[in-house]
Amino acid sequence: MVLRDNCTYMRLMQIPGHIDPVPVPRAITPREDGRIDLMGLSREQIRAELEAQGLDARQAKLRAKQIFHWLYHRGVTSFDDMTDIAKAQRPFLAERFVIGRPQVVEAQVSSDGTRKWLLRSDDGQDYEMVFIPDADRGTLCVSSQVGCTLNCRFCHTGTMRLVRNLTPGEIVGQVMLARDALGEWPKGSMASVAEDEDDDAPQYTTDGRMLTNIVMMGMGEPLYNFDNVRAALKVVMDGDGLSLSKRRITLSTSGVVPMMARAGEEIGVNLAVSLHAVTKEIRDEIVPINRKYGIEELLAACAAYPGANNARRITFEYVMLKDKNDSDEDARELVRLIRKYKLPAKVNLIPFNPWPGALYECSTPERIRRFSDIIFEAGISAPVRTPRGRDIAAACGQLKTQAQKLSRAELDRLAEEKQAALG
Ligand code: SAH
Ligand code: SF4
Repeated sequence: MVLRDNCTYMRLMQIPGHIDPVPVPRAITPREDGRIDLMGLSREQIRAELEAQGLDARQAKLRAKQIFHWLYHRGVTSFDDMTDIAKAQRPFLAERFVIGRPQVVEAQVSSDGTRKWLLRSDDGQDYEMVFIPDADRGTLCVSSQVGCTLNCRFCHTGTMRLVRNLTPGEIVGQVMLARDALGEWPKGSMASVAEDEDDDAPQYTTDGRMLTNIVMMGMGEPLYNFDNVRAALKVVMDGDGLSLSKRRITLSTSGVVPMMARAGEEIGVNLAVSLHAVTKEIRDEIVPINRKYGIEELLAACAAYPGANNARRITFEYVMLKDKNDSDEDARELVRLIRKYKLPAKVNLIPFNPWPGALYECSTPERIRRFSDIIFEAGISAPVRTPRGRDIAAACGQLKTQAQKLSRAELDRLAEEKQAALG
């Protein structure tokens, strides 16, 4: 472990080991100019900040409602654009508050339309988000942490040395930035009509947007940053703001069993579980949190997940690793387990996306097809996810590393690991 003696390092936490991370909740990132970034705050928090700056209770409540709407429904970043707030009061707000966005380090568009952004926080930490357009939907893949403490062996994010939780502002900020980039804020006055046929006239439409779904499947383990993820998703789901339905949001976990029931009760979004293996031996190896919360315990928690039913199934993600987890026997065991726990489930088969130094290879297309067929034949949906954005390395953690370039020590460590695994 290379120790860096600077203050950025002090604000971060080291990866404490394979399966026992200590999540560090962060509040609002302090700004050098002392202003408060409202991004990610709830209506109630905005109200409290306004009161703390001297507005009386009635004013603060009204202004909070207006600002919340301008922030998240209209996407404005300047108080000057908040036309229903008295002109004289706008400088008061601008002196004390800002409406932030993550800084964009790099933005790429793939030949298949996938877009990827490398973002930077105020304290210089990089994280990623990816937008995947499809025929009937557009899905934004959002990060919950910088890096990840869980060290899944096929996942590039798990090799990153430093980890910190993203704040609610940084999580909501990703959605805001995507809406900015896609040009998807309602224009014009709210009183104008959607059916207006004149193209130049102000339009106010909420449908027909490209960004329709959100998956918490970027960098990090969302259930190790529960409070911030919950706060962020509540803002994203609020009907006066971004207004995304909980049915269009999916939270993916590697299996943090003790937090799963709370996720269902307190957030209520769809659940995806990164299963990836059906035996203790293999899952212990590739998803090390399995040593703490085993497969049976995990599946029991899935069976008890609030809100799961045939209309809202649990997704099991299964990354296809050659000669590791891809046999006919594995597929049959997966079916047996899903039946045993009577899970309303579908399985997403993900072709492994290799990265420099990775210890595994992707299963062959024939193998993946066969694996999928066995599950389908048992009456369980098991589509193969098409890899997207390969030309821009749009897989977990890849853009960040391309931008940073691996350090010599990092490359040596990866080479050693690979050698040990092969030998
Ligand atoms: N930490 C959470 C969410 C982020 S990972 C989780 O593990 O569920 C999102 C998904 O991408 C997971 O299913 C993960 O296993 C998968 N993934 C990670 N690295 C991958 C790779 N190199 N190829 C294919 N899928 C990968
Ligand atoms: Fe973390 Fe998920 Fe990657 Fe595992 S797969 S290291 S839990 S981001």
